[in-house]
Amino acid sequence: MPFEFTAPARIVFGEGAVRDVAPAAAALGRRALVVTGARGDRAAPLVTALNTSGVSCVPFSVAGEPTIDLVREGSRFARGEHCDLVIAIGGGSALDAGKALAALITNTGDPLDYLEVVGRGQPLQNTPVPMIAVPTTAGTGSEVTRNAVLASPEHRVKASLRSASMVPRLAVVDPELTWDLPPAITASTGLDALTQLIEPYVSTRANPMTDLYCVDGIRRAAAALPRAYADGKDRAARHDMAWASLLGGLSLANAGLGAVHGFAAPVGGMFPAPHGAVCAAVLPHAMDVNVRALRRRGADGEALRRYEEVARLLTGNPQAGAADGVAWIADLCRRLEIPPLRTYGVRPEDFGVLVEKAAKASSMKANPIVLTPEELTEIVSRAA
Ligand SMILES: [Zn+2]
Repeated sequence: MPFEFTAPARIVFGEGAVRDVAPAAAALGRRALVVTGARGDRAAPLVTALNTSGVSCVPFSVAGEPTIDLVREGSRFARGEHCDLVIAIGGGSALDAGKALAALITNTGDPLDYLEVVGRGQPLQNTPVPMIAVPTTAGTGSEVTRNAVLASPEHRVKASLRSASMVPRLAVVDPELTWDLPPAITASTGLDALTQLIEPYVSTRANPMTDLYCVDGIRRAAAALPRAYADGKDRAARHDMAWASLLGGLSLANAGLGAVHGFAAPVGGMFPAPHGAVCAAVLPHAMDVNVRALRRRGADGEALRRYEEVARLLTGNPQAGAADGVAWIADLCRRLEIPPLRTYGVRPEDFGVLVEKAAKASSMKANPIVLTPEELTEIVSRAA
């Protein structure tokens, strides 16, 4: 079966890997836009190292998930500062903002010219400036993907800026950077990582290379996530979650996602809910509805066989069936105290528009079976 695989030119993984950023940056540019989350001071040691390596730094902090306005103004600011390199260190919001800014520094049209769904979806004309991505959560995998998710508050939707040229030049994944994550963030980002391994594995676009990543990632995340949640200083668990998150990013970038992420875009666009928290709340219900839909009318048994393999990897029981995997995930969500979607304001009167938007979301295209509006409604009503 033919397939293609896209990944950063270079990935550095391991405890202490963040020390590789400054020398690598010095080879890529002279003046870096350093994109961080709300707490920009966490990047202080990196900024010192960059200055020592001869790279001057322009700080840029991103308080929440990036919006179209933020990257419009940020790219103008970065051009004025003559930045020839972007380094993003933070969670998915900082990394996605950094990827979008790297693209918009050299592509001077409006972000809406290039944005999918709410914009004109035109291809980027120019190569983005080099970009280095340094994740500080173990969840999004954004350090190795080709899109940046931007919120459009006026449309109440999230949409992607997407181009093969937006894959970061260098991804530096240092598990030590995740040691301080509080339990609730560990839980939601960790379940996003697990979702980003399960959905590509059962996706219609799965390929032999992403299968390898998903199998190892699911097994490791299943064992490590409860431990990292219980004890943030569990080095081995943090290591495995950082590794699983990286594998999830590589897998979703090359095999697509499914119904969970189909809902994540509209829920995240309409309500102030962090991406990982939405995925965590939706995952067990989307798996359950998918498995039952496949049993009722699946054309071939391949997707069901894959759900059975997921169950075996999650539970460690070679006799486990697909339903055991669903039950294991539901139990994990209870143990990790994942709040339901109503916590973020999702109400029954919102289900109709969420189902309509989820059905059209780009992630939904790779779901192993086309779900009916009734099945999609069941997912969101149970997750709420
Ligand atoms: Zn995700």
